[in-house]
Amino acid sequence: MTLKRLIFLAAAAYILVVGGGLLIYRILIAYPELEQLTLESHKGDIRAIKSTYEGELNHLKLFNSDWAKWDETYAFLNGQDPGYIERNINSDSFINSNVDIVSIYDSQKRHILTGKTTGAGLELLTDLSELTNDIHLDTVLNRDEVCALIRLGKRIGYFCSNSVQDSEETNPSNGTLIFIRMIDNSIIQRLQNLTDSQISLRSYDNEQHSIVIPPSLDNLPLTDGRYHFPLLNGKNIPIGVLNIHYQKEQLPVLIDKNTIISILAMLMLPILITIFVYYFFLKPMTTIFSNIGTMNKTGKLQNISIHTHIAEIDAFTANFNLFIQQIKQYQQKLESESNTDGLTNLFNRRYFDHQYDEMWRAVSRTGNSISIVMMDIDFFKKYNDHYGHQKGDDALKAVASKLKTVSRRANETLARYGGEEFVLITESLSKKELEDMLANIINSIETLNLEHKPSPISDHLTISCGACYIENPGSWMKDKKEQALKIADDSLYEAKENGRNQFIIHPLSNQSTNSKY
Ligand code: GH3
Ligand code: MG
Ligand code: MG
Repeated sequence: MTLKRLIFLAAAAYILVVGGGLLIYRILIAYPELEQLTLESHKGDIRAIKSTYEGELNHLKLFNSDWAKWDETYAFLNGQDPGYIERNINSDSFINSNVDIVSIYDSQKRHILTGKTTGAGLELLTDLSELTNDIHLDTVLNRDEVCALIRLGKRIGYFCSNSVQDSEETNPSNGTLIFIRMIDNSIIQRLQNLTDSQISLRSYDNEQHSIVIPPSLDNLPLTDGRYHFPLLNGKNIPIGVLNIHYQKEQLPVLIDKNTIISILAMLMLPILITIFVYYFFLKPMTTIFSNIGTMNKTGKLQNISIHTHIAEIDAFTANFNLFIQQIKQYQQKLESESNTDGLTNLFNRRYFDHQYDEMWRAVSRTGNSISIVMMDIDFFKKYNDHYGHQKGDDALKAVASKLKTVSRRANETLARYGGEEFVLITESLSKKELEDMLANIINSIETLNLEHKPSPISDHLTISCGACYIENPGSWMKDKKEQALKIADDSLYEAKENGRNQFIIHPLSNQSTNSKY
């Protein structure tokens, strides 16, 4: 498992646990509570509607009782006051009261009067069938007081009746007085404002319904915020229905915008932490690890060039880079030691082989001329034998440093080829320049003036040179690297044969053959 995967897994687990937990909490606890609260609030509204109705009914009941228990009404029903209607019921104050219909019966159930209060006064009604549908006359006459709902056409209202008696209520009742009030829009509007719901009343069009028991508020279910209550008349028969509707927006939603926002807000924390950890810690760490991995694979040491905002990581990379620098220095030292000849400090044979190979490939592309020069100290065995090995070493060092001063160009490689032999490869020289250079080498070794008594050709140390000169390098050279070396070696042999202390140059061209150069 990678560090990256571990951190992402941890973040995913947190998101699952927290997000899932919040969802479960919402579904199992918060939402049912919210539903319950809403239901309670709706029940409160329904109770308020009921008590408003009861208040209105009470008001009508008191008003009705005032009129029924009154000497003048009593006298009217006894037939003693024919002017009663005109004087009282048809008066402006009664017409403007909250009674819509007034109805009077005597104790023998005889209809005395039914009238509707209108702007133009009392309008007498003759068709009483609707009235008597919902008002049970026997009950009304037998009881002192009755109040109930009533249906008139498409409208619903309520009535109160009181047995008519004298004001002192000492005489027996001689009839009943009924006041009816229709439920009008102003009441509905008032209830809607009170409950913030849509309220409507619908009366059943003279249909016959069986007796029902209205639903109890205690086990009211919250379905879609729509409640329907049957409106019962005095006989417990439904005469209409009261609809209470709440808007969808007023009802709780299982997963609403706020829930989503709060869950997202909770999830922002791990997401932010993951982003933070990723950018400030994980990314630099994985870069460091992958750099180290690449170094391991390729074996090439390189600095880690990242800059973070974390002091510890920056300190680590700075120290690591210092460490890399040190290793590189050791490597360079080791490399240069492995390329250098210990005695003369010139490059050794190993380095020459490598460099010769590189140069060979390079010049076959660039087309610059190339010369391979082999140099060999003359009669060095005799020198050693005469002056001793130590002196021989000193002479080798002296010759090496002299050769170094002669070959100082950047594109030249001078190396100790072995024993008292040296090799030089050099680019971009004309034949003439090469001749001059070789003459210069021979001359400079002579001018070292190292005494060499046993030498048969000179009284001081001399050197012979053989060179292979390639004027027009190209792809034809591809397989001729060894041949060029051999030409240089053969030229050296020739110089030795010719008497030493001299140079011989032989060319290598694409026409050359092995035997004739
Ligand atoms: P020629 O002119 O034909 O080259 O004769 P030469 O004597 O120089 O050639 P030869 O190959 O016979 O002898 C080379 C001698 O170089 C043999 C050896 O003693 C000497 N020599 C080789 N390496 C070293 C070294 O590192 N130190 C010393 N002091 N002598 C060395
Ligand atoms: Mg030799
Ligand atoms: Mg020699």
